[in-house]
Amino acid sequence: MEKPLFPSKNMRITQGYEEGTHRDSYAIDNAGADYGIEPIYAPYTGVVKKIYENDANEVWLESIEPVEYPDGTVDYMTMMFGHCNDVSNLYVGKKINQNEAFYQEGTKGNATGNHCHIECGKGKFTGSGWVKNNSGFWSIENRKKPEECLWIDDSIKVLDNNGYTFKKIENKKPTEFVDKTFIAPKTDLYGVYLKKNQKVKIEKLSQ
Ligand SMILES: [Zn+2]
Repeated sequence: MEKPLFPSKNMRITQGYEEGTHRDSYAIDNAGADYGIEPIYAPYTGVVKKIYENDANEVWLESIEPVEYPDGTVDYMTMMFGHCNDVSNLYVGKKINQNEAFYQEGTKGNATGNHCHIECGKGKFTGSGWVKNNSGFWSIENRKKPEECLWIDDSIKVLDNNGYTFKKIENKKPTEFVDKTFIAPKTDLYGVYLKKNQKVKIEKLSQ
């Protein structure tokens, strides 16, 4: 099962949720390493559900399968991205693979400087995808805080997390065996680094 990944390789959150134009929403703006335009990577394998070209070229991506939230919850996820200058490569129904660069930072709509507006929603795409909140801003349906939805891993540089702590996916390091007995502490997938001609024997233990 996929763990949704933060969609930029450079986390630099320039506006958090409940701030300014993000009042009454859990939207964040990510501006990447610098003022240039950086790609936005699909956090999970998903399908494009809606494209709204009249404003900030907002794109809604719904996960194809349920995903694992950082608190262990399993559910579908729908995210909305904004400000890409050109979405002509996208269409409703297009399938995007996890980690595929499918969107970009930009300035389309109400934006000062290249960045991507990011919102997370729990569950599948519903209704028109967004609702007008109490402050008059359009915000994703079933909104949820980004740090309660997205994971980070070693491929993501955290430059400024705006005080939000994202859970990290730890890479499983292979264990080297040298005439050693290793008893698996729990049922899981284990990696073994083997040198040429080295032999590993898996023993079935009686219950
Ligand atoms: Zn924004």
